[in-house]
Amino acid sequence: MPTRSSCRVPGLQRETEMTNRKVRVGILGATGTVGQRLIQMLDQHPQFEVTALAASERSQARSFEAACSWRLPGEMPALARTLVVQSPEPPLDCDVIFSSLPAALAREVEMEFARAGYPVISNSSAFRMEPDVPLLIPEVNPQHLRLLETQREKGRFGPGSLLTNPNCSTVMLALALAPLHARFGVTAVVATTLQALSGAGYPGVASLDAADNVIPFVENEEEKIERETLKIFGRLNGTRIEEAAFPVSAQCHRVNVSEGHMAAVRVKLAQKARLEDVREAFASFTALPQEMKLRTAPERPLIVRDEHDRPQPRLDREAGNGMSVTIGRIIPDRVLDFRFVALSHNTIRGAAGATLLNAELLSAMGYFDGICSKTA
Ligand code: NAP
Repeated sequence: MPTRSSCRVPGLQRETEMTNRKVRVGILGATGTVGQRLIQMLDQHPQFEVTALAASERSQARSFEAACSWRLPGEMPALARTLVVQSPEPPLDCDVIFSSLPAALAREVEMEFARAGYPVISNSSAFRMEPDVPLLIPEVNPQHLRLLETQREKGRFGPGSLLTNPNCSTVMLALALAPLHARFGVTAVVATTLQALSGAGYPGVASLDAADNVIPFVENEEEKIERETLKIFGRLNGTRIEEAAFPVSAQCHRVNVSEGHMAAVRVKLAQKARLEDVREAFASFTALPQEMKLRTAPERPLIVRDEHDRPQPRLDREAGNGMSVTIGRIIPDRVLDFRFVALSHNTIRGAAGATLLNAELLSAMGYFDGICSKTA
């Protein structure tokens, strides 16, 4: 396997030297639903530029323009058009890897890139639950970045590193729970999701299954939400995370909506709370990315809507440029303590935007300083 022997442990060694040039990004799964969003969000980004794209054999050795059927509003960014789609194997002409590969493939490929010296920031579920891999939402558990040091100490990922963002529904649920857990303590959660079609990638669910229908099954989703939430709210104890102990129960449904996942959530709290206190906890929530003014961070991670019929996917998914979670229907609950409805943009806050915000946090914290210059 080719490695970048001259590298100074990119992403992990905080060099004092600062470079003004942009961090060069390679995207794996560039032609897919999440890959296209990444390319769109990275267009004109002041800190990052896309320099390498990779996808399946079907797309390889063709210009991105020829290989990719662009399915987002607006034009395909000019910078990506002429890049030739490559095989997802190192070396690629970039400093960091953003991966949006199918999980089954991601395990081997992402490990290969990390071992070749690249910091890998992944959307895929392949490594999310590994004890030494941060499952990061910058507003919720930035302290878990400590695991990147554990990776370096153990050497499992070679001279590179691996960081993941959660499943698209988990990001939404964890962001919504974060201020409640911090202020009142969460002791039980029940979440029923209504998930958009784009969450299944392209072409996703067959149109004849989706039209006029609700499918009460999203493969592996319930398990992901139930497990990932506990890791995200886990306590960092030295070099490991002790998962949170409260039970999370999830039921997932695929609905005939193009973008925007919704969850009806019921929550039990450790401390007594008034309805207005719960509302205020949501509405006033800000965290590290807002303090650091990270480019992709929304001004308000949670937006409370008081109208009786909000949030709705069509009306609220673009809130905060797709990075805010909208909360509505906050009501005392007869079985648990409170219930509410959350909504977020699954391919932005739930995927590409989550990866990018993680990368911006790493960048702001100096993890990419002194990143080595290299070409494939
Ligand atoms: P997608 O639309 O199906 O795109 C898959 C991408 O992977 C395409 O670029 C495809 O390239 C590439 N690919 C497939 N097989 C490959 C192979 N054998 N070798 C190299 N590249 C290959 O899927 P997606 O929705 O973007 O999801 C990508 C990942 O993100 C998955 O792990 C998914 O679970 C995760 N995720 C998705 C969402 C969402 O809302 N969609 C949210 C969170 C996380 P070709 O075009 O050449 O086939």
